[in-house]
Amino acid sequence: MSALLKDRVWVMLSEVAKRGVYPLHGSRLGIFRIPVEITSKSDISSIINSLKSSGFKVDSYADRIYVTDRWTENGIDAITQQDVEANLEITVEIVTGDVVDIIYQIKPLEFFGDHYWIKNYRQKTDTNAKVIIDTIIWNSKIGDKLIEHYKKSQKLSPDDALKKLDEMTPLRKKPISRDASLAQDVKTPDKDASKPEFQSSPPAVTTPTQTPPAMTDGNTSISLVGTGNSYSKIEGPIDPDFKSKRQVTGAFQGIKVWGPVDPPGQLGIWGTEVTVDFDICVADGACIEACPVNVYEWLDTPGHPASEKKPFMIREKDCIFCMACENVCPPQCVKIFQKS
Ligand code: SF4
Ligand code: SF4
Repeated sequence: MSALLKDRVWVMLSEVAKRGVYPLHGSRLGIFRIPVEITSKSDISSIINSLKSSGFKVDSYADRIYVTDRWTENGIDAITQQDVEANLEITVEIVTGDVVDIIYQIKPLEFFGDHYWIKNYRQKTDTNAKVIIDTIIWNSKIGDKLIEHYKKSQKLSPDDALKKLDEMTPLRKKPISRDASLAQDVKTPDKDASKPEFQSSPPAVTTPTQTPPAMTDGNTSISLVGTGNSYSKIEGPIDPDFKSKRQVTGAFQGIKVWGPVDPPGQLGIWGTEVTVDFDICVADGACIEACPVNVYEWLDTPGHPASEKKPFMIREKDCIFCMACENVCPPQCVKIFQKS
């Protein structure tokens, strides 16, 4: 990533962050960070060609690609009553590297002349920038890599990863057929052709048929399987004082678990700094998508009444205390405790 931008990135890309960035940049600036690597010249050339096919003006310089949309506004001058016209444009910059930053800045209307008669200039320009961004993400190699990223990091099936990309890019222009590119990807030679690389449901970190981890792992004393039938679905929010009211019952892969625990129906509250009440969580995944540093991964919890998978804070130590996950959780079952 460009060192120049390092301190200016306000948001990381996720569906949640993407929606959130628009109010953040207000009328001036938008920045997205996409967690894919684009470093080879062939990848950069491929992106340039894809975007030219989408009808934009495309320039490049070193590791940067500039995508410009131009349009004409027509109106009537309120003073002279004559027809008037203005040529406007917005440029979106793609900064390639270990991650991809996508940036745009809306110029003041005065940059294009004395076009005071144009209404909603910033709103129109902002929308046109989003059209470019959605097209970049859907139509170019960045989309291919983002699908791969979703498949790996969120353990999504190819169809679900494609759906995610589809939902993320509603404004894309001249969309390419992604079914075809995905099919090619699935046909990529696999060492074990008889075994699908991806499953429609996320693979379990542990499953009911596995030996309970408590017997095999010194950092794990909590089992997700059991005979407990006193199901205990409860409503949010998480009790912010649970640490003074509950006891640490055990651990799962080193992560503390606060009881009571009676699997599979009662799993307690997990974590120390990044804490989630598993008995409330409905597994919509908002926290996983919001987290910029991938603290969470899915953990299968078959038989739990609220949801049969949970966001396991396996990389709790990586938390940067941005509070994004706590803020997006619909039932408010996440609580972040910042180290003092
Ligand atoms: S508070 Fe921590 S776990 Fe939550 S989104 Fe931010 S970095 Fe991730
Ligand atoms: S946002 Fe809340 S309900 Fe959704 S998966 Fe995360 S912890 Fe569970």
